[in-house]
Amino acid sequence: MMIPERLRREVWEANLGIYRAGLVTMHSGNASGIDRRRGLVVIKPSGMDYDKLRPSDLVVTDLEGRQVAGKWRPSVDLRHHLYLYQRCPEIGGIIHTHSNYATSFAMLGRPIPAYLTAIADEFGGEIPCAPYADNAGDHLGEAVLKAMGRAPAVLLAHHGAFTFGPTPRAAFKAAVMLEDVAKTCHLGLLLGQPQPLPPEEVRKWYERYHTAYGQRRRD
Ligand SMILES: [Zn+2]
Repeated sequence: MMIPERLRREVWEANLGIYRAGLVTMHSGNASGIDRRRGLVVIKPSGMDYDKLRPSDLVVTDLEGRQVAGKWRPSVDLRHHLYLYQRCPEIGGIIHTHSNYATSFAMLGRPIPAYLTAIADEFGGEIPCAPYADNAGDHLGEAVLKAMGRAPAVLLAHHGAFTFGPTPRAAFKAAVMLEDVAKTCHLGLLLGQPQPLPPEEVRKWYERYHTAYGQRRRD
């Protein structure tokens, strides 16, 4: 079986990225990616320190979770990643963290309303919070899927957050942005009661960010 080396590198970079960005500590959290053509998922091994992780340590499984490469056991959250990959063909990368500010909202079972233009830009509206779900079976995957809206992120009550994107890199960006806006909202809520942006303003910022922002080739 051909092992997707480029994907392995991308997933390794995403795992390293969440560690360097301070979104995970010790063994918590994980990043994965999928090669849709080959039907292979690459994910962090269970209980391994991020700073010791090498690309060759990552585990490769098929979409049913059968291990096809790697000498370590996969993350215990593999089942939830597979559940989402099986049901969301547009998702190419998934990240799970317990990042502090995002999890402070999750702890209270609170979604993050579109208080900021940065939330409108990246998330297109409220960042939803799924109800508490046990880690066993498909409960957690089901809860995340049910809560999923436009935003590439879902908070999970009493637990943490899942972010997703078309690539592991995009899921990583969503994880970083989620923690950034969650921190600002957490601080703002200490000062007073903010109002969410009106829906038409959210739509405007989201559309502009996804059509006109950044660099485009001119040829
Ligand atoms: Zn967790």
